[in-house]
Amino acid sequence: MDWKMILIHHTGAEEKDTAQVKRYHLSRGWRDIGYNFVIERDGKVIEGRSLNIAGAHARGFNSKAIGVALIGNFENRLPTSQQLTALNVLLLKLVKEHNIPQGEVFGHRQVKNTLCPGKYFPMASVKKDLANGLQPKSDNNKYWRVQTGAFNNEDNAKDYAKELNKLGIETYVIYN
Ligand SMILES: [Zn+2]
Repeated sequence: MDWKMILIHHTGAEEKDTAQVKRYHLSRGWRDIGYNFVIERDGKVIEGRSLNIAGAHARGFNSKAIGVALIGNFENRLPTSQQLTALNVLLLKLVKEHNIPQGEVFGHRQVKNTLCPGKYFPMASVKKDLANGLQPKSDNNKYWRVQTGAFNNEDNAKDYAKELNKLGIETYVIYN
């Protein structure tokens, strides 16, 4: 295999673990789990389908793109900080091992008509971490977020996010 890209996915459901994802893929008649790597909520990286054969995660890309999936549905929530830390380490390792340019790391929806990996998936900061080659400290999983506003009305929060989006600033509306 000659891997040229990396595609990032969410599994799209709140599966318990990788084994559950695999059972679902096998039930569809596939030879193995479709993804090459799965990152569970606690940041554990599970090797999926061997990199010696084509994957099954994005039609048209399966023999040139390594498929990395994070468990969860990021249309509804952010990935866990443990998942993002593990993803950063895995991406740095894969681009180096397979000589993949950083510009060839994409979210699934950047190449196909899909919501995957979800609107809350922080693609911009994942790419920034990759570019910086950050090896996150393993002694904590803290993330520093930049807060720009707090509203007691959801519509006002969303309107504000929309204004920031127009300026090219990636935003998330989080309820807490
Ligand atoms: Zn996907």
